[in-house]
Amino acid sequence: MNKVIKVLKLGSGIGQRESHQKRRRALVAGGAGFLGSHLCERLLRDGYDVVAMDNFHTGKRYNLSALLRDPRFTCIEHDIIDPLPADLDFDEIYNLACPASPPHYQADPIHTFKTSVLGALNLLELARRNNAKIFQASTSEVYGDPFVHPQPESYFGNVNTHGPRSCYDEGKRSAETLFFDYSRTYGLDIRVARIFNTYGRRMQPDDGRVVSNFIVQALRGEDLTVYGSGQQTRSFCYADDLIEGFMRLMNAPHAPAHPVNLGNPGEFTIMELATLVVSYTNSRSKIVYRPLPVDDPRQRKPDISFARDNLGWEPRINLAQGLEHTVDYFDTLLYGSRRFTGAAAS
Ligand code: NAD
Ligand code: UDP
Repeated sequence: MNKVIKVLKLGSGIGQRESHQKRRRALVAGGAGFLGSHLCERLLRDGYDVVAMDNFHTGKRYNLSALLRDPRFTCIEHDIIDPLPADLDFDEIYNLACPASPPHYQADPIHTFKTSVLGALNLLELARRNNAKIFQASTSEVYGDPFVHPQPESYFGNVNTHGPRSCYDEGKRSAETLFFDYSRTYGLDIRVARIFNTYGRRMQPDDGRVVSNFIVQALRGEDLTVYGSGQQTRSFCYADDLIEGFMRLMNAPHAPAHPVNLGNPGEFTIMELATLVVSYTNSRSKIVYRPLPVDDPRQRKPDISFARDNLGWEPRINLAQGLEHTVDYFDTLLYGSRRFTGAAAS
């Protein structure tokens, strides 16, 4: 599958604008990932020339195979912790580069922290040189294990500085600091989204996050692994809704003076999610309990009043609908469209 993809190394002149070129140019760091590939697709649809930049740590070349047929799309293989050449030229920069699943971001915590901080610095410097608008994919993890529920943007959070999740949580918090300091110091136009748990097509079967784990386990007829009691809650947003939120935030006439929550306020316990997945896939899978990871947040639900009132945005796809699309996706990926037979046959 990888052979059809032409991935260019940095330094081939691909990030530069041709003199006759009028279309707007966007850079998507992390463009080969789950959300990044959806964002690239949306930007191409909206008329941009798009360059994805990725180190392919968790992103996949095949996420981009359809996009690479479009002459307005290019992919650069590059790790954003390394310096970027001075001659890249973009109107808009989106920073989505960072592993998002706990097992992946904890596998090399120092690289995760460098990605969040050095990567953000490199992209902010590029934005400054280009006078480009820049978007940061921040996270609900900045609220840690919250004492305020639901979480408004004004809540400062409750984050452990030295636990196994800290490389991600504190890395993302530091990146927010850098973004706002670049805005105050250099007048950069920044947009910072705090993304709550998002799922959908193009998640990897081995991603490790709860929605993909449960669906893949149910389709394979394996036990669903609930961590802890399953009474902890999350709010799950479907990817298409989230990408619409990105565009509304990026295209708002004025940059909000603070990060903006983007997520689906519907709140579910992990046990409710497991039950929904088993029932929708008609799986014979059982539920088994595994230890709760350290510092696993007990509740999470976004207060999206700001996005609703100022961006006219709110999610449209509820969990049942989103799960249906996502189960279809994994069923096709794993079994070539044999609808739910993976579970039934086992
Ligand atoms: P993902 O792991 O699928 O995508 C991350 C992409 O970044 C991958 O393609 C990966 O290879 C690339 N990458 C990682 N480190 C890099 C580096 N140093 N240099 C270049 N590329 C690098 O995860 P995702 O769910 O698509 O998340 C995208 C962004 O959104 C991340 O920044 C994540 O923190 C943020 N986010 C996602 C969620 C969610 O629920 N999906 C929630 C909160 C925040
Ligand atoms: N979780 C679970 N089983 C799994 C994977 C995750 O019970 O196979 C739990 C996890 O402990 C957490 C919730 O589901 O309470 C969401 O986990 P995920 O890794 O998807 O996101 P995050 O913890 O970063 O919000």
